[in-house]
Amino acid sequence: MKQILQTTIFLFVASLLIFASYLPAQDLGPHFKKIKEGIFVHAANPLISNIGIILTQEGVVLIDSGLNPPDSHAVMKAVKQLTSQPIRLLINTEPHNDHTTGHFVFSPPAIIIGAQGATESMKKIYDLKRVEQLSAKFPEASQGYRLITPHVEYKDKMTLRLGERTFELMHLKDVHSESDTAIWLPKERVLFSAAAAIVKSYNNLRPFVSIPAILSALKMMKSLNPEVVVPGHGPPGTTKIFDDTERFYTLLLERVERMVREGKSLDQIKQELKMPEYDDWGRKERFPNNIEAAYRAVKGN
Ligand SMILES: [Zn+2]
Repeated sequence: MKQILQTTIFLFVASLLIFASYLPAQDLGPHFKKIKEGIFVHAANPLISNIGIILTQEGVVLIDSGLNPPDSHAVMKAVKQLTSQPIRLLINTEPHNDHTTGHFVFSPPAIIIGAQGATESMKKIYDLKRVEQLSAKFPEASQGYRLITPHVEYKDKMTLRLGERTFELMHLKDVHSESDTAIWLPKERVLFSAAAAIVKSYNNLRPFVSIPAILSALKMMKSLNPEVVVPGHGPPGTTKIFDDTERFYTLLLERVERMVREGKSLDQIKQELKMPEYDDWGRKERFPNNIEAAYRAVKGN
């Protein structure tokens, strides 16, 4: 009996300790998750992009800056709670608005880094009307908004070292935007995987996006053997995120290929193809552009 009581007390204390290790993230606010010691993610909901906070002995590194200025300010507040050090670097996983609107909150002093093509893409997307809407919706949080494009663009790969941490940046091509970056922390085994795979949602496959390129990017990222995967959107998890996405595209390619072999046109395929296995995935309005991408892959262009 005494033994059972001791074990129960031990388990209770152990569970308290485990719980305590997650407490700091909860103190930061409702959407913050602690990934590892000194690594946090603001993951509000899958429609909004994730923001990563990585503390180092020589300052803070952010991954993306958010869609809505109030979220960016919440991240700024969290950083100030965690450390008195400045935000030194801000790495973009992609140039789209939902990942880059909050740059003005962090830079200066943050130096912004993106893959080749990020600046051009951000300038092309820049829309004055959207800025007006932003100011109307979040008058206080949007004060001081301005377009800030990357100070540094790298080609293919780049390694950054800050304090005790190493960041390996990999330019993923033709997977989502004109300039996608995966960020790998080899010692911590944490991977920020950009938008090559998102959780339980159809992705937006633009005309230049290639499903074979997505599949090879997923394979490459899986080969790193990450312990934690932080996708551009959706809750952080494991390489299961890649497996789920891979299974979806493989099935999509199989079905489109069969219909092409049966002599069906792209329009017919769009009308007839169903993926009931993915009924619970969000953003179904993107299904037609997924079929178009699969059709391009099957046709070899
Ligand atoms: Zn995007």
